[in-house]
Amino acid sequence: MLGSTGSIGRQALEVIAGSSDLTVVGLSCGSNAELLLEQALEFGVPHVAVAHAKKAAVCSSLHPEGVVWSGPDAAAQLVREVDADLVLNGIVGFAGLEATLAALGRGVDLALANKESLVCAGCMVRAAALATGARLIPVDSEHSALFQLMLGRETSEIDSLVITASGGPFRGWARDALCTVTPKQALAHPTWNMGPKITIDSATLMNKGLEVIEAHHLFDIPYERIEVVVHPQSIVHSLIRLVDGALLAHLGLPDMRVPISYALHYPRRLPVGKNLMDLARTGMLFFEEPDEEAFPSLSVARAAGLQGDGATCVLNAANEVAVHAFLAGRLMFSGIPEVVAETVHREAVDAPTTFAEVVDLDYRTRAAAEMVVAELTQNG
Ligand code: MG
Repeated sequence: MLGSTGSIGRQALEVIAGSSDLTVVGLSCGSNAELLLEQALEFGVPHVAVAHAKKAAVCSSLHPEGVVWSGPDAAAQLVREVDADLVLNGIVGFAGLEATLAALGRGVDLALANKESLVCAGCMVRAAALATGARLIPVDSEHSALFQLMLGRETSEIDSLVITASGGPFRGWARDALCTVTPKQALAHPTWNMGPKITIDSATLMNKGLEVIEAHHLFDIPYERIEVVVHPQSIVHSLIRLVDGALLAHLGLPDMRVPISYALHYPRRLPVGKNLMDLARTGMLFFEEPDEEAFPSLSVARAAGLQGDGATCVLNAANEVAVHAFLAGRLMFSGIPEVVAETVHREAVDAPTTFAEVVDLDYRTRAAAEMVVAELTQNG
């Protein structure tokens, strides 16, 4: 389990604690080595990886036969050297790509919560899975829904995919009003309980843009056949439109433990807590078009998707830099899509063909995006 101290990782451990047929053989984290150690002791895990090298010493008392990897590629090393039937990748951002490729390269099935892997190197990730026959099982709630709806269906039966978006905390706000948004306001998501990076992405609608790209790669569906609809209740997790006009929907309470459990137990299904939805008490469900004028990130992401993996890798790196700058108080909320659009405009390139090229592109883009942040801040 990679990223075990984050939101996905902690909820996955809850699922595992309640399941008799899952055993954790390795855990990884970024820098929260104290929590990682607690988790490793509780679940009897001998192998751990800590990306923040200085923090790894915390885990030295772990297990007499255990191994502690450290450094930026620690999670990928863990995946390469420890045998597992399934890898859950809950790492945030570009940092998750190497471990995704390591798991698929070994032929190990991958429960993927790290959507950035597909955004940064979708073609490479798909090729790695195809080469070894490893399965990619999405953990993202919308994609888990789509995956379930599409099981056993012929591609020729599917007209299009409909991904739902909560709209985030600023749904209905005008573009001008978004200038004053603070990190605290943006971190308060109305329906889903998630980590800070994805919560900000949800507030800008970039998360939905990344998810359109993710769906394109996961299901091999062209961009023009992937719709986004805003659905503030987050009860319908996504839908598929069939060629005969029927629309199939996947419903449930917004609880990440459900798609996590599905991916961990696939193809079986087991109970997850007490989360049966009472339809009559759920009340009204409604749907509306996304406001792409106030939230331009969605169309920026779609345009990058059409350009290919080079542009989407740039998109992702610029977005990570912009979100970080916003959370650090260096950039206005409305500056996030501006930084991303401008960086994609300046830096978009042909798709990288090796992992080293992707890393290089990500690195260069971050420097370019920092420049755009500095320019915007000077001018504003
Ligand atoms: Mg999602």
